[in-house]
Amino acid sequence: MTPDVRPFVAGNWKMNGLSASLVELEAMRRAVDAGEAGPAELAVCPPATLLAQAAWKLKGGKLALGAQDCHTEASGAFTGDISAPMLKDAGASYVIVGHSERRTLHHETDALVRAKAEAALKAGLTAIVCVGETRDEREAGDAIVVVTRQLLGSMPPGGAPETVVVAYEPVWAIGTGLTPTPADVAEMHKAIRGLLGEIYAASGTKIRILYGGSVKPANARELLGLDNVDGALVGGASLKAVDFLAIAAAYA
Ligand code: PEP
Repeated sequence: MTPDVRPFVAGNWKMNGLSASLVELEAMRRAVDAGEAGPAELAVCPPATLLAQAAWKLKGGKLALGAQDCHTEASGAFTGDISAPMLKDAGASYVIVGHSERRTLHHETDALVRAKAEAALKAGLTAIVCVGETRDEREAGDAIVVVTRQLLGSMPPGGAPETVVVAYEPVWAIGTGLTPTPADVAEMHKAIRGLLGEIYAASGTKIRILYGGSVKPANARELLGLDNVDGALVGGASLKAVDFLAIAAAYA
């Protein structure tokens, strides 16, 4: 945790969810609006196909909505892509950029991730910028070097606590049930905090740094209580309201 920073727990549904899954979102909304989800801000990033329906169901409530990716351009001949202004128009207030699945499967570079983050900010969205090392990079002792390079290359100019969030997600921990040791997470988040100070000066001290990678109700309290860990980006465990809310309860 970082003093005077409201924690943030975001769910990434990835390519999961049909209209029927919105019952989970409604259960989350009920808990958040009833004040039963603890002090953290909560957001869910469903697939783009569900955004408009989800926005309708969340209207007037306190559970925020996010998307999982955006294009760098606002509009144009980019078949199949979705722009940041379109996401905003559909009701999103956050967008994940640079998730490791996009960096790996869609060959996204730091420069592209930065351009997407810039597009997000321009559209009035908050960008959740993901960084993280592979297993080989960690075993070679290069985790901090890799994340430093990603961060310096991916963060948008002019970012501030209201407009950017960093998610540190070791690639080898995503969807595997494996997590780094609390000491390793704390070491990386401290390094990221220092870099954010270098990039953004004073406002870098309050930018939220999330941990992501196999966060579950059982390990949330330990991971989310660490210095400079200001919340979580949650994949699999965000699909069910009961699990997602149990993770957020780490702050209760
Ligand atoms: C993710 O995809 O961002 C993620 C952290 O997934 P999981 O929680 O399933 O490891």
